Amino acid sequence: MALVNENYLKLPGSYLFSEIARRVNEFKANNPEADIIRLGIGDVTRPLPTAVVKGMQEGVEEMGRSETFRGYGPEQGYQFLIEKIIENDFTPRGVELSADEVFVSDGAKNDTANFQELFGIENIMAVTDPVYPVYVDSNVMAGRTGKFNIEKGQYETIVYLPCTEENGMKPSLPETHVDMIYLCFPNNPTGMTLSKEELKQWVDYARENRSILLFDAAYEAFIREEGVPHSIFEVEGAREVAVEFRSFSKTAGFTGTRCAYTIVPKEVKVYDSKGEAHSLNQLWLRRQTTKFNGVSYPVQAGAVAVFSDEGKKQIKETIDYYMENARIIREGLQDAGYTVFGGVNAPYIWMKTPNNMDSWQFFDKLMGDAHVVGTPGAGFGANGEGYFRLTAFGTRENTLQAIERIKTRM
Ligand code: PLP
Repeated sequence: MALVNENYLKLPGSYLFSEIARRVNEFKANNPEADIIRLGIGDVTRPLPTAVVKGMQEGVEEMGRSETFRGYGPEQGYQFLIEKIIENDFTPRGVELSADEVFVSDGAKNDTANFQELFGIENIMAVTDPVYPVYVDSNVMAGRTGKFNIEKGQYETIVYLPCTEENGMKPSLPETHVDMIYLCFPNNPTGMTLSKEELKQWVDYARENRSILLFDAAYEAFIREEGVPHSIFEVEGAREVAVEFRSFSKTAGFTGTRCAYTIVPKEVKVYDSKGEAHSLNQLWLRRQTTKFNGVSYPVQAGAVAVFSDEGKKQIKETIDYYMENARIIREGLQDAGYTVFGGVNAPYIWMKTPNNMDSWQFFDKLMGDAHVVGTPGAGFGANGEGYFRLTAFGTRENTLQAIERIKTRM
């Protein structure tokens, strides 16, 4: 008899976006004429930049010629891409990295979900609340979280760091010791960022407590304001305690193409039961070379074009486009009297639901009255209740129309 991994049974209900899809499909079946605008799931709508498409096409051509054909590539990514990542994303910000500290992968979702494998099961983990659900669910599957407390909407042994209206959606340091801390800035779902000084407090905490910061910077390209760090490694001391996840998904339209990377500095250490230190970089290399066979060559050939002059120009246009959507949503909602967070350095707008409505009620009302789909805050954690997320990844036309409908129909 095959036994189940009972940790999977601790996961309550369906995954957030499946539940949204279910409700939308049901609504569409009952209202076939409704013209629904989706500002819910964080998927992009603009096509790949032409520079990237060209890079991919050339990569495919090479694969079709015997002189340039490539089989298995290096699991951690081709040097040509790693060098460009360092040269463009880190060196200009004063961050020095060596090539073997960069691990190219097929997604920040998998990397953030898989990275926890390197840590002992007894570690105490902390997440912000609300949070990108992947950090929590992957640790549940691994058995690191205890049971789900339905009343609290939280797992027994996770330390939750509330992000509330009172603290301006900026989490406070944990009051008890934690070993692994997931941070995501610019944040999904709140759209908020931390300053360098604020981030430094986390680095200092991690150094004092020998904890590890798992820093998700998937949205760094959307930072508009000066003084907001794009990488945690801009903060002094972070190389000893932090790992950083990055992605081409939102930056360059790779959600359906898949390319991302993770930075694991050689100084970051984890300890065995005898107190001996082990390099997280070596452990991640071991993990990736065992369980992953690299991102396809044409995709990496496309990703490297992100750093060409043409690619940079096209990506800037795309990000400007989304951030103009963000402005339209943020200011439109503010005009309509809603309390909103984010949307300045991130493609997410986090709004407070009106009249203390719960977030799934607001979801149903927004879909029913305005035919606009967003994401209920409760899906991101107990402290997301009473909030709602809209994304700036729609088309301009849909974004303008969605705000108009919210203003006139809600
Ligand atoms: N990290 C955060 C915070 C995200 O919001 C997302 C996607 O929505 C990801 C990671 C996933 O990125 P990828 O497409 O590279 O898997």
